[in-house]
Amino acid sequence: MKSIVILGGGSAGVMFANRMRREFSEDTVKITVIEKHDTHFYQPAFTLVVFDLERAENLTRPVKDLFYEGINLIADEATKIDPQNNKVATSKHGEIPYDYLVIATGAKLVYDEPDGMKEGLEAGKNTFMFYTLDRAIQLRDALKKFEGGTIVSSICEMPIKCPAAPAKFIMLAEDAMRRRGIREKCRFIFTTSMPDVFSRQPYASKLNSIFKERGIEAIPNFNPSEVDYEKGVIKSFTKGQEPVKFDMLCVTPPHEGQSFIEDSKGIGNAAGWVTCDKHRMSHNTYKNVYGIGDAADFPTSKTASGIRKQAIVLTERMKSLLSGKEPTATYDGEVICPMPTRYKRAMFAEFNYTESISPAIESYFSWVIKVHMLRPLYWNLMLKGLM
Ligand SMILES: Cc1cc2nc3c(=O)[nH]c(=O)nc-3n(C[C@H](O)[C@H](O)[C@H](O)COP(=O)(O)OP(=O)(O)OC[C@H]3O[C@@H](n4cnc5c(N)ncnc54)[C@H](O)[C@@H]3O)c2cc1C
Repeated sequence: MKSIVILGGGSAGVMFANRMRREFSEDTVKITVIEKHDTHFYQPAFTLVVFDLERAENLTRPVKDLFYEGINLIADEATKIDPQNNKVATSKHGEIPYDYLVIATGAKLVYDEPDGMKEGLEAGKNTFMFYTLDRAIQLRDALKKFEGGTIVSSICEMPIKCPAAPAKFIMLAEDAMRRRGIREKCRFIFTTSMPDVFSRQPYASKLNSIFKERGIEAIPNFNPSEVDYEKGVIKSFTKGQEPVKFDMLCVTPPHEGQSFIEDSKGIGNAAGWVTCDKHRMSHNTYKNVYGIGDAADFPTSKTASGIRKQAIVLTERMKSLLSGKEPTATYDGEVICPMPTRYKRAMFAEFNYTESISPAIESYFSWVIKVHMLRPLYWNLMLKGLM
């Protein structure tokens, strides 16, 4: 009997564990998940909570309720991987051996940089974010009281989860203020560390034209060095760039891999992302170790939609491996990023490592999928490995 240990019970850990359980009985493969938190969050709808398009209570479930019977869930924190000896150290359960290890520990938000961001977020007066559910609720409440001024959405650096989310925020904020009748009292600015508003064409051009049409200013190559929330300015390292004034800042903090990856020699890169073959998903050095989801250094967007594909591929590869065959299934980097652009309109950006797949068009149908269908599909089909 082979033992597969999965680190993390987020989107990636649950989708992969459940798919594997559907393929293999408990007598043939032992599946263990190590997860440090009790609650699982449906993160793609945090943006919707900010604009009262989704209720916060719909976005959480106990981790223990998400797995099929026969999956062994250990509520603990992985503290170090020892890939030479095929075991993982944990805080409370000692060392756990594995035949195959799947690292699905997601991304960590970094609050120490830029200077002053943490203090601004803690003060909660004019600096907000929506990358956690609590913060999304706080931002929603602040936006309801907003009566005019400059709203800035700022990406500090890449990669981040769902790289389109900060652009979604600024478009929905502009739309919300217009629908509230105070558009002329407001200014909207989007800053990004990237050279353009989005990494891919034709979506970048489409977003640029939406921004232009609706008077949203874009500042590319803006690398925040400091948030001075008392003065209401965000400064950039980039030479020649003026500080940007704000009345409300929605900042997207830098992301890194989990600290224990950095502590596990040879597993991750300097930023803590697990270094993997982007097609095979196997670790570059340790062939019985795999990365899946945000934790991996795949050069594509960190999204739940990509994880759904990755879980299918990795399950296929495991099926081949466990039956003594050479795995042939590969991940092509495909992600689908649904971007609400205004009330009742959304655009899908679907692309893989090499090409853009969907056209850059806004439609009501895409809005319905994003706002009304994806959350139930996630809880009822995707996490269960049925879609
Ligand atoms: C605001 C926002 C908007 C988004 N919008 C979209 C969207 O529109 N479409 C889309 O597809 N995706 C979107 N995403 C991205 C998507 O939610 C993530 O890519 C996905 O949830 C990541 O899943 P994961 O399992 O890799 O990581 P996570 O879901 O973060 O799970 C990682 C798990 O590992 C656990 N863990 C970490 N360290 C340890 C440890 N040492 N020991 C044990 N357990 C550990 C954590 O507790 C966590 O449960 C969005 C995300 C955000 C934040």
